[in-house]
Amino acid sequence: MTPKETGTVAYLAEPGRVEFREYPVPDPAPGEVVTTVERANVCGSELHIWRGNHPEVKEGSLGHEALCRVDALGEGVETDYAGEPVEEGDLVAPVYYLTCRRCSACQNGQFHLCENVYEYWSRSPEEPPHFHGTFGTHYVVHRDQYFYKVPDGIDPGIAAGANCALSQVIFGLDSTGVEYGDTVVIQGGGGLGLNAIAYANECGAETILIEGVDGRIERGREFGVDHVIDFREYDSVEARAKRVRALTDGVSADVGVEVAGAPEAFAEGIHLLRDGGRYLEMGNVTPGATTEFDPGLLTRKSIDVTSVVRYDPWYLHRALEFLEAQSDVYPYENLIDAEFDLRDVDDALRQSDAREVTRATLFPN
Ligand SMILES: [Zn+2]
Ligand SMILES: [Zn+2]
Repeated sequence: MTPKETGTVAYLAEPGRVEFREYPVPDPAPGEVVTTVERANVCGSELHIWRGNHPEVKEGSLGHEALCRVDALGEGVETDYAGEPVEEGDLVAPVYYLTCRRCSACQNGQFHLCENVYEYWSRSPEEPPHFHGTFGTHYVVHRDQYFYKVPDGIDPGIAAGANCALSQVIFGLDSTGVEYGDTVVIQGGGGLGLNAIAYANECGAETILIEGVDGRIERGREFGVDHVIDFREYDSVEARAKRVRALTDGVSADVGVEVAGAPEAFAEGIHLLRDGGRYLEMGNVTPGATTEFDPGLLTRKSIDVTSVVRYDPWYLHRALEFLEAQSDVYPYENLIDAEFDLRDVDDALRQSDAREVTRATLFPN
């Protein structure tokens, strides 16, 4: 390996403290792709780690959402994971975790639960090939890490986030089985919620958003939600459940999607659904945050609960195709509301944490 140039990595030295480190940009090992990062987005899970809330990860490389440009292809890499030929200069989106295809979860076909999923996540940049996180000038797509060519015409900030919220929402709603004619109630109008509105809509479903923040309600409407239940107005579970019934000819919703990230939202979900309804739990991701729950009602209503974390890696390809077809229909460009130089990543994290900005994108180069 002959170092050609150096690149910068944003490294979390301890919670709340980011340092910049310089490393030689490596030549790709067999199966790897060395890229230049065009855009990297700040996501809620970075904030979780940056604040020191993550139970295990307290330091390491930051960043997982990115749009990358291929600098060099390792031996054996001729196509992306959909078989499209790739060459230097192409724009690609990486799946942000590993699917090893060798562990027991992968053997069961549950690629999203791969036991080696975070093999490179938050790894110290001291370890070659150094560029393990997307908050850096360069990023190495490791061997076995899926990546896809990005179709022309997708806004770069949006393409950078396709590997997170949208891919997971499509995977989750497909796992739950949203069909034409369903009514889908979505609890929470953040990034996951807006993507859920768009995808449920494309599936031919009617959508109801439960939210209580003006800006989020406004964006929900921009994304074409059919009905909004403002929880400042409908301020109890009973009131919201009654409103859902009124909007569905007395039946209640076919499908519920929890993307509020509040334990109580999960407990509420079963009250919003019809007997035999389906429920997708995706927003609560912190073990130990508990709530009161009525399991007897769940049984009586025979509600099917599905929960998903991450997504099967080929869903990123579907997400990119969805964006290519639908980015004119939904105002995805409105989701990114702040741009920062990589050197100002501290400001990007701080302002995102303080909710002064909704979705920040970094320009590393
Ligand atoms: Zn993310
Ligand atoms: Zn695996």
